[in-house]
Amino acid sequence: MLRFFNTLSRTVEEFRPIDEGKVRMYICGPTVWNFAHVGNFRTFVFGDVLRRYLKYSGYEVTHVFNLTDIDDRIIKEAAQRGISIDEFTAPYIQYFWEDFDALGMERPEVTPRATHHIAEMIDMIAKLMENGKAYESDGSIYYRITAFPDYGNLSKIKFEGNITGGSERIDTDKYDKEDARDFALWKLVGLDDEPGWDAPFGRGRPGWHIECSAMAMKYLGETFDIHAGGQDLQFPHHENEIAQSEGATGKQFSRYWIHSEFLKIDDVTMSKSKGNFFTFRDLREQGYSALAIRYLLLSVPYRRQLNFTFEGLQASESTVERLRNFRGLVKDARINEGSDAQTADAVAAAIEKFKVAMDDDFNTAAALAAVHDLVREANITIAADGLQPADQTALLVAIAQFDTVLGIFGPDDAELLDADIEKLIEERQSARRDRDFARSDEIRDQLADQGIILEDTKEGVRWKRR
Ligand code: AMP
Ligand code: ZN
Repeated sequence: MLRFFNTLSRTVEEFRPIDEGKVRMYICGPTVWNFAHVGNFRTFVFGDVLRRYLKYSGYEVTHVFNLTDIDDRIIKEAAQRGISIDEFTAPYIQYFWEDFDALGMERPEVTPRATHHIAEMIDMIAKLMENGKAYESDGSIYYRITAFPDYGNLSKIKFEGNITGGSERIDTDKYDKEDARDFALWKLVGLDDEPGWDAPFGRGRPGWHIECSAMAMKYLGETFDIHAGGQDLQFPHHENEIAQSEGATGKQFSRYWIHSEFLKIDDVTMSKSKGNFFTFRDLREQGYSALAIRYLLLSVPYRRQLNFTFEGLQASESTVERLRNFRGLVKDARINEGSDAQTADAVAAAIEKFKVAMDDDFNTAAALAAVHDLVREANITIAADGLQPADQTALLVAIAQFDTVLGIFGPDDAELLDADIEKLIEERQSARRDRDFARSDEIRDQLADQGIILEDTKEGVRWKRR
């Protein structure tokens, strides 16, 4: 039975979805104003593990993951370069998905962009205006927090007096608000050349929080199962999402809230503003594999902080290599006709331990320990007597099962058929003839990642598996 910590109740709860066998889930995605750093990716990789474990547990998952493609930073940078916000965000959106795929994350079912959902946001704001939960001031529209008595239920922040501090991300707009806590739903856009949209309440652009409320409800309904994001989003972002959504519908917005802890570096939060960050690409350029980066990011349970170090990354590199070698070893193992109940028992125990660990608030560290224990035991058997055919199959099936959730063994070399390899080599040759060396290098790296080594000889290209 899956149990996890619900921020809303501050307790570990049994998970019971609204519709049996189905999960509707929203995870806050990136702001596409720059490359995402590996801190961001810790949150997203956890989201991926969460999604995959729900599927592993038999649920049909509808996962919505938004892209915030409008905010102050995007507007400023686009204006400075004299291009539209779409032109500015397009490459970052592309880089984001490239990194996302490279980290072995499964694409969510719906990946909405804020700028494509302005009409839904306007509708929601209109509803809030109608029922007295929003008001106009100086041309902008604000949420009236005093009209929503449950405000603060998620973050458990006590609001006595007019508190505006407590978070870097609190809305500190210096407009005329009834209460300092009130936040903008719609910001007046005065100048014609600033990006803006027409609304019944005037030309403007949406506040950050309304985006997620509008997109979550459009694709998941007024009430859905799980809402997740990094722990900094608890307040004010998620608190405001609840106020907007429940203020508009009078119904519970999300039943479970999951917040993952930060990636730190030298015990300081990794962030763009502090300048202490590495992007995924920085680490790839330094020669670290995507699998090792993924392994490191998921190795610590999501509610514990993870301190990034290069020693830790190096250790992850050795670990994923050991795991991949182990899979190869199982495949090539000497086959022994005798019976071996020990390996069969070890496989069953590992699968059980893995499930117990993941059911226990997604304890990835304990789940990995189950995998490593199995590897250790099976290695001894393989070295001593070889494997029975049935155990060989059981081990390979167990590895594949673990990997549907963890994704740390990576694609199986054998999955890349000889014909696929030959096709890629042919494509590389053609890229080289066209002097498209970026593409030819990319293909070589792609093959190397799969353990295929190329050798350029006089007779042409030869290849072998590592
Ligand atoms: P942003 O692109 O700034 O909207 O952030 C995207 C996601 O990354 C949010 O869910 C943040 O909570 C998360 N995030 C930002 N910094 C870190 C960090 N150092 N470690 C883990 N998650 C982070
Ligand atoms: Zn959000």
